[in-house]
Amino acid sequence: MNKHFETLAIRSQMERTAQNEHSTPLYLTSSFVFDSAENGAGIFKGEIEGNLYSRFSNPNTDEFARKLCLLENCESGVATASGMAAVYTALAAHVQAGDHILASGAIFGNSRYIISQILPKMGVEYTFVDVDDNQAWEAAVRENTKLIYVETPSNPTLKTADLAFLGHMCISHDLLYVMDNCFATPYLQQPAKYGADLVLHSATKYIDGQGRVLGGAILGKEEKVRVCYDFIRRTGASLSPFNAWVLSKSLETLAVRMDRHCDNALLLAKFLEQHPDIEQVTYPHLPSYPQYDLAIKQMSQGGGLVGCEIKGGVERGKRFLNALQLHSLTANLGDTRSIATHPASTTHSKLKSEEQLEVGITPGFIRFSVGLEHSNDIIADVEQALNNSQ
Ligand SMILES: *Cc1c(COP(=O)(O)O)cnc(C)c1O
Repeated sequence: MNKHFETLAIRSQMERTAQNEHSTPLYLTSSFVFDSAENGAGIFKGEIEGNLYSRFSNPNTDEFARKLCLLENCESGVATASGMAAVYTALAAHVQAGDHILASGAIFGNSRYIISQILPKMGVEYTFVDVDDNQAWEAAVRENTKLIYVETPSNPTLKTADLAFLGHMCISHDLLYVMDNCFATPYLQQPAKYGADLVLHSATKYIDGQGRVLGGAILGKEEKVRVCYDFIRRTGASLSPFNAWVLSKSLETLAVRMDRHCDNALLLAKFLEQHPDIEQVTYPHLPSYPQYDLAIKQMSQGGGLVGCEIKGGVERGKRFLNALQLHSLTANLGDTRSIATHPASTTHSKLKSEEQLEVGITPGFIRFSVGLEHSNDIIADVEQALNNSQ
């Protein structure tokens, strides 16, 4: 019987121990004991299956990776210490000097930094293209292009990449297809169906969903994940067993949480759309979204993030943030608590205003990570802050 997403997320857990526990226990141990010298030798050689050391494997990290693998419809997976550990590993483990990375420009700031600042020191070249411009992607492929890197919906502007187009492009040019699925989660979008070779997560966001722990994962085709696993067990970006235990529990409620995040986000987007102080609302499942047809095809719901352009530029944006009472002003997203960010004065303030516009950040752009509070309270807070920030 093919089980549904929710059932897999709840019922895929490690085998019970002799204690007959109902919920998975936590294995806080750095190493594991061998039955004999021969057994130890076999495990070291990889001829006998078994745990050796928690940087290599641990029942909790394995359970989390296996479960996420099932949810993403991928063959294999490995857990990482954070989302950035997943991004860095997926890239660094697969490129060498002389290779070229083709990436969308509107990606998480630190991912952009790895591609444009860290990997070039090792002789890796890069090009950034607009995430939604299929022709630009195709035109930027070079002889030495090794992989493409993409996030959709993009951060923070929520544009949509055409996953199927990119899948075909990667096959025809023999490119590794790497996709950060953090904003959508496997509940809304499964990039492997479109040919993604490696699907990355910052589990810190919606997967934990409660703002508690850092974590990440790389899921994908067996041989590509194997390269990442070998890199991690030697470089040390392994997920801690405690965080894995928390995250594996969190996956049990991912579906119900995402349903509510999406419902609340759509209600907020509709409220903003009719408000006279709002210039433009960006939400993938609003009919006014420029790539609406693509977004409803790729994502089963619109996600928990809403963007809008507030009238009055940078100063109004700051006044609006200061007037919010319920929303948190913080750098995270995908939390139970609603969060508002103003990229022009915070995350992207180091960029010149032309550069901000290049990645789609206008002076009054606000990004909401819509939480799980009651939708009326979320909307009431935004409404009063709009009134009190004139
Ligand atoms: C937060 C985030 C990351 C980095 O994850 P950490 O867990 O903070 O290291 C990577 N990609 C995206 C899209 C993110 O939002």
